[in-house]
Amino acid sequence: MENIQLFVPTYRIDETLAEIRECLQIGWTGLGFKTDKFEKAWVEFTGLRHAHFINSATAGLHLAVELLGEQGGWKPGDEIITTPITFVSTNHAILYAGFTPVFADIDESLNISPGSIEQLITDRTRAVMFVGMGGNPHHLRAVMQICRNRNLKLILDAAHMAGARIGGFHVGIEADVTVFSFQAVKNLPTGDSGMACFADAALDTEARKRSWLGINKNTFQRTAQLGSYRWEYDVETVGYKYNGSSIMAAIGLVALRYLDQDNAYRRQIAAWYDELLAPMGGNVTPVQHDPGSSRHLYQVFAKERDALMVTMNAAGVYPGVHYKDNRMYRMYERPDADQSSTRKLSEQLVSLPMHLRLSYADVQRVVSSIFAFYARKE
Ligand SMILES: *Cc1c(COP(=O)(O)O)cnc(C)c1O
Repeated sequence: MENIQLFVPTYRIDETLAEIRECLQIGWTGLGFKTDKFEKAWVEFTGLRHAHFINSATAGLHLAVELLGEQGGWKPGDEIITTPITFVSTNHAILYAGFTPVFADIDESLNISPGSIEQLITDRTRAVMFVGMGGNPHHLRAVMQICRNRNLKLILDAAHMAGARIGGFHVGIEADVTVFSFQAVKNLPTGDSGMACFADAALDTEARKRSWLGINKNTFQRTAQLGSYRWEYDVETVGYKYNGSSIMAAIGLVALRYLDQDNAYRRQIAAWYDELLAPMGGNVTPVQHDPGSSRHLYQVFAKERDALMVTMNAAGVYPGVHYKDNRMYRMYERPDADQSSTRKLSEQLVSLPMHLRLSYADVQRVVSSIFAFYARKE
């Protein structure tokens, strides 16, 4: 029997190659052309005000923190309340810009709890960084309210949230900046790329310069405007090489056409898992998602997690963990983290295989491997 992997990206190959072929034919693979098209398509799809295509969500989060900090006059060491249960990019972005991550607690939704945020606000708090774990928007609106009431910026790390909605509206309107990831194993896969969506027009403009080394006009615009390549430009700041490419945008444009359909299938897989795991009682508890979740992940709390994962591997099933408490990494170590409720939750976390190639029979096989483990123990 074939192994069942945690993630396998699915591409519509012929359609994607046709989109890439256009880039190769006209001889334009870089910034502009398909990146402009993808940005427009993303704005139309999400209803967000702006979308800037970049080479990763990590880059976008860096730009988000840096530009909000500049606009708000934040000082080095000012605080951003964030989650310890995330991919390290989220918290690295805070450090890149010279600010201090302050770790809130998560609850059973795996998102930071509004109550925990309230307790951590000081006169140095400038923003909240919210991660919608596995695509789950739970608590996002409540956190937006806290940010409004306390005059804090809200940065949404929406790396798992392409196509996630609240009450029919795409997530992101709540935040000052929303950053999506289109990395290869996210739910809108390209190779590596992302989208930084600033609510403020001036910050969107600034982000476009900052992600192109501080240059004040992109090459494609200059070419398009003047009908021939114009070499002259100005450089305003020390920017970065963070722009996305037309090849990645070409892949993303096709993936976007199928995103709602694909997320619906993810929710179907989640419903199968929910149903088949229901008899597990207290050994395995699925994380509940709000209805608009993109279902990038299907996570459970499992007793004896590490031993369970070894048994599943022996059956050819490869689950994962999202994520280890970041405070278990040397550079984010915090003295009081070991006793936290967050640590206890994170130590039980397992992500079950979740991707578009899974059939109902595959889901049954994953669940059987879990049943086998707990049955053996009794
Ligand atoms: C993947 C991920 C990122 C980083 O995305 P890249 O596009 O790979 O830089 C950031 N935050 C979270 C929660 C992620 O899962």
